[in-house]
Amino acid sequence: MAQTLFRNCRVWDGSGAATFPADVLIHGEHIRTVARDRGQLDPGGADVIDANGMTLMPGLVEGHSHITFINAPRPTDIGDTPPEEHTLIAARNVRLLLDHGFTSAYSAASAKLRIDVVIRNAIEAGELPGPRLRACGPEITVTGGLGDDRRVHQFRDSFAIVADGPTEVTKLARLCIREGVDSIKLNISGDDFTRTGAPPRTVMSEAEITAGVTVAHDFYRKVNAHCRAAEAVKRAVRCGVDVIYHCEHADEEALDLLESVKERVFVGPAIGLLHAAVHEAPAGALHPGLRQGFELGLEAAARAYPEMKKRGIRVVIGGDYGFARTPQGENARDIAHFINHLGYSPAEALVCATSHGAALMGIHAGYVRKGFLADLLLVDGDPVADPNILCDKDRLVAILKGGDAYKLDRSALQRRTMRAAE
Ligand SMILES: [Zn+2]
Repeated sequence: MAQTLFRNCRVWDGSGAATFPADVLIHGEHIRTVARDRGQLDPGGADVIDANGMTLMPGLVEGHSHITFINAPRPTDIGDTPPEEHTLIAARNVRLLLDHGFTSAYSAASAKLRIDVVIRNAIEAGELPGPRLRACGPEITVTGGLGDDRRVHQFRDSFAIVADGPTEVTKLARLCIREGVDSIKLNISGDDFTRTGAPPRTVMSEAEITAGVTVAHDFYRKVNAHCRAAEAVKRAVRCGVDVIYHCEHADEEALDLLESVKERVFVGPAIGLLHAAVHEAPAGALHPGLRQGFELGLEAAARAYPEMKKRGIRVVIGGDYGFARTPQGENARDIAHFINHLGYSPAEALVCATSHGAALMGIHAGYVRKGFLADLLLVDGDPVADPNILCDKDRLVAILKGGDAYKLDRSALQRRTMRAAE
């Protein structure tokens, strides 16, 4: 079995504790030893890499991934893309994610039913480079909900499929599962993008949510939900949803409910899209009403998330990368957004980006510790001092997935050794 020994690392181990110097031995897919007494490990037949003080840390996890988002300005552009082109774009997107240090991605929805599934299968078969992927189905929405872009005079596919009433939701959830998804997605609340109302509206009924959750859990699958409104968060928790996205308008009662299920439920703010809309969209690029909705959303998130952190609710980074102003590959910008908007320290934000994400994936990864999967990054620099270096893929000197070096930039290692010798 292949072995790699990283010597002279600074280890940031995924727990939030301070970095420490160590040597780390990887055996096959797993971390075998993290030795704080450096220079003591017998390299045996291992490939020895002198990290020269670079940081070894867990691989990043995108917790609200949309590999089928195409960097287009409007949601309808996603629906307009034919399946053949769409699959190729998704194949490029997963490679981009891995290139940027994301060794895992938990999908928050696939714009077409089978794309996540076939991409996941190709990655697992070793046919396509990409992160470990949890495949989701399309967003299940109600008539007039987020992703229903039909008009009375015109049918138009979007990134969602419409299902009204528990019977239709049941049938659609079963169809998604038959086709191989790991999770289904329910759009419980409205969104700034919908014509029927702003995010504080809740449009999917408890009977519909319960139908989706029952089917998914019958088949041992998870349920992800789009919940901007407080009432949507409450319905999601009451009906047994597993992953609750956005949640920025959560009130005290919604926060209490989230706290009551914090051992089981994960939350993701998808803050990148709100940040980009408010701070980076050129003047006039957004309809004034849309802009105001995003501003309210960002302000609400800045109130809700520090409270969630205080209550120990597990939050993951990522989300809604794949629009024009949040292009795929820039997902690690979320770490700085957590610090600048949501009150997280750099170490706390990095925990959301690594060990929380791995727990959401359901994999034994996310820590640089003995026995954990060797999904690791070797970073030129200190990501706790400056998390933005993780946005620069040239600073990711090594990217390992299950012990396999997807990337190992030996010339960067050499330059570092020369700098150290000077
Ligand atoms: Zn999303």
